[in-house]
Amino acid sequence: MMFKPENSVNQPVNILNEQGVKLFIKREDYIHPVVSGNKYRKLKYNIIKAKEDGFNTLLTFGGAYSNHIAAVASAGQSLEFKTIGIIRGDELFDKVESNPTLRFAKQCGMQFKFISRNSYRDKNLASFLNNLKNEFGNFYIIPEGGTNRLAVKGCEEILTEEDQTFDYICCSVGTGGTVSGLINCSKPSQQVLGFSALKGDFLKEDIIKFATKTNWKLLTSYHFGGYAKINKELIGFINAFKEQYKIPLDPIYTGKMMFGIFDLISKNYFPRESKILAIHTGGLQGIEGLNLILKNKNLPIIQ
Ligand SMILES: *Cc1c(COP(=O)(O)O)cnc(C)c1O
Repeated sequence: MMFKPENSVNQPVNILNEQGVKLFIKREDYIHPVVSGNKYRKLKYNIIKAKEDGFNTLLTFGGAYSNHIAAVASAGQSLEFKTIGIIRGDELFDKVESNPTLRFAKQCGMQFKFISRNSYRDKNLASFLNNLKNEFGNFYIIPEGGTNRLAVKGCEEILTEEDQTFDYICCSVGTGGTVSGLINCSKPSQQVLGFSALKGDFLKEDIIKFATKTNWKLLTSYHFGGYAKINKELIGFINAFKEQYKIPLDPIYTGKMMFGIFDLISKNYFPRESKILAIHTGGLQGIEGLNLILKNKNLPIIQ
């Protein structure tokens, strides 16, 4: 299965509202079942660079349900790279088969190294990287979440010329790479709204590092308690949204963004007749694993 960026289309979400606000969703999740949405965009130029520089191994970092880990494993397999995943949580080493994301990555040929949450914090230290070089030989390193200059460059290709008619561009924010790319390819007259999937507003600093314009806002009240925190209200929203519009959302990123957009529309945040484009950044591979956790907690699952 190859990547199909041409499959990413703007689909109307026919919401009724007295303000006449129009909402569309850009189906970046249609690019590939796993290397989907922004993960394809963020890997594209990194992989070209790795090939150019003669690397045959990609090494990256992530948690047990990480869309980024699944994407690197799958892209590596398609494009003939060895892949190494440094996984947060040393308790996971014997749980690969019961974790759908790790099991998939392993099937793609990814080799894992499980490390404690404490060592994971030190992953950017030179000594840590040197130890990895001794263990695995030479590799092209892709940072956690995949964000770097080349990732932002890939995300600058998400908006097309026809998207210039939108007043607002909305996307979920994890590390800020995707929203930075969107800001850079937006028109100054457009507003880019980032919906933070994490608690706190430290992400602003990261966006400022990469963004070339100031036509953006980071919205920080739709994280539902923090990264990967999920409650019944969010699950109910995601299931109702899928039922009504036939569009699946994930609970960590796109579900929280869309919840936020609906909330803002109901509060008349957007001026009359605004045209909004929400980016579907993918992430659907994570649902299976998250549903196992929800079941264990006796919470409703994502349909
Ligand atoms: C990784 C991810 C994000 C976050 O992207 P950043 O560039 O890290 O901000 C958003 N949505 C989905 C579905 C993701 O997998």
